[in-house]
Amino acid sequence: MLLNELRDYIGTLLAVSRFRDYCPNGVQIEGRTEVRRIATGVTASLAVLEAATAWGADAVIVHHGYFWRGEDLCITGTKKSRIAHLLQRDVSLLAYHLPLDAHPELGNNAQLAERLGFAAQGSFGEQDIASYGVLNQTQTLQQLVSHIGHTLQRIPQVIGKMDANISNIAWCSGGGQSYFELALALGVDAFLTGEISEQNVHVAQETGVAFIAAGHHATERYGVQALGEHLSKKFGIEHHFFDQDNPV
Ligand SMILES: [Zn+2]
Repeated sequence: MLLNELRDYIGTLLAVSRFRDYCPNGVQIEGRTEVRRIATGVTASLAVLEAATAWGADAVIVHHGYFWRGEDLCITGTKKSRIAHLLQRDVSLLAYHLPLDAHPELGNNAQLAERLGFAAQGSFGEQDIASYGVLNQTQTLQQLVSHIGHTLQRIPQVIGKMDANISNIAWCSGGGQSYFELALALGVDAFLTGEISEQNVHVAQETGVAFIAAGHHATERYGVQALGEHLSKKFGIEHHFFDQDNPV
């Protein structure tokens, strides 16, 4: 398929124009016109780009691309190496940030909920990125944490009483720790996100609402994979997900 068709299809699918974001969503680096093989990854790091181009990708789709608001505009250092890698090989980079967090089926939060057995009841926070709902069945924090660790293949960092019962939960993939206060207002028993900040620890202890930091990368692996699989089925193009593990 043509790169422009791919861009337009994903733009409509993820309702890109609805979001005010911190980076451009869509084609960030333009490569060849024809796309037969799509690689996906969480972050457009050099390692992911190298693996993708070695596999023969025509386009790489990621959740964390380039050109973030407030960053240095100059193309130097690691940014130069990454962009040069793509331009020299005529390979495109497409990035989808908030639209890929929020999509009700393919999004990071929806995919995370599906894997962890959370039934979403609604969304909250800036531009309705975060979700809240109920667990399939009430369980102790200990049971929930071991289930999350097993599913995401990473031991979560947890602030809370391990014998507390959890039935209502709010979640936001990635660096969603600033949504904790909003989650508290929903009256949930626990909040799950990727990363934790120092002040979250005190608030969790003082409110008794558990804070589970399950990894920024680990909680954002699934949206872009689901998007790649969707595109592969829809258009009959090849797709491969490149998981470059990240301890954060
Ligand atoms: Zn992220």
